[in-house]
Amino acid sequence: MTAADLNRVRQWLKEARFVVVLTGAGVSAESGVPTYRGAGGLWQGSDFRELASLEGFQRDPKKVWAWYNERRRQLKQVRPNPGHYALAELERRLGGFALITQNVDRLHQAAGSRNVVELHGNIWEVRCTRCGRVEDRTGIELPAEPHCSQCGAWLRPNVVWFGEMLPEHAWQRAESWTRQADLFMVIGTSAEVWPAAGLIHLARQSGARIVEINPHETAASSLADVILRGKSGEILPQLLDAPQPGSSASPEPAASG
Ligand code: NAD
Ligand code: ZN
Repeated sequence: MTAADLNRVRQWLKEARFVVVLTGAGVSAESGVPTYRGAGGLWQGSDFRELASLEGFQRDPKKVWAWYNERRRQLKQVRPNPGHYALAELERRLGGFALITQNVDRLHQAAGSRNVVELHGNIWEVRCTRCGRVEDRTGIELPAEPHCSQCGAWLRPNVVWFGEMLPEHAWQRAESWTRQADLFMVIGTSAEVWPAAGLIHLARQSGARIVEINPHETAASSLADVILRGKSGEILPQLLDAPQPGSSASPEPAASG
């Protein structure tokens, strides 16, 4: 990542009419929340199909709840990091800004982001497997076997599991925002989970500039106009600075002697 790349993105943020950001687990990594894939990833050592699928839940709801209750305890301890706060600040500063997240931890909202769509639900709500009733149980310790207060059926975490459809309203908003974006930033996601990853392609087809922020190459890298290689908690706060004169983003050569 060069100073010119950073500056180019600062300039684009200034020019953009509608900025859309797509985030993934990497944005929360610096808060101490493990990502799914890669070293130290959440799935390492456990069979994720058993923990994050309806079939696994139906086979052994107690086991799935033991895992989610442990994650809820862990997430209760974590706080947003400078990347989350910088995105909330961008939203306050820019006229048009929307955030689409695959994260289930609600750290964007905790940092002050308002215009947020959760594509994969969130870990704090529970949903009844029979009557569909959704309840917000943020920060509350749940029983080992949570059941619906209305109909008595098993409750489940209100997250999207493998093989499940995304919540329709969330997906429609995400698609509509993406079509309107003139700057689309892909931050901390491996871009391997569909249909979320399809939004990057849609943004490109719609003519948006694409910026990736991620320490590693991803499935989105080949679609990006500028790649800022590094941690979102370090790079995003730097984007709040005004474009720096002198390290011009345009291809003009620097004045020479
Ligand atoms: P992923 O685990 O597939 O990919 C994480 C990405 O983050 C990787 O590309 C990695 O290089 C990058 N990364 C790691 N550290 C980073 C940092 N400091 N700054 C920026 N990027 C960093 O996660 P995903 O793409 O979000 O997709 C998988 C699924 O994981 C989603 O469905 C999501 O719901 C779920 N998930 C959510 C959380 C959470 O809510 N915090 C945590 C784990 C998984
Ligand atoms: Zn019920």
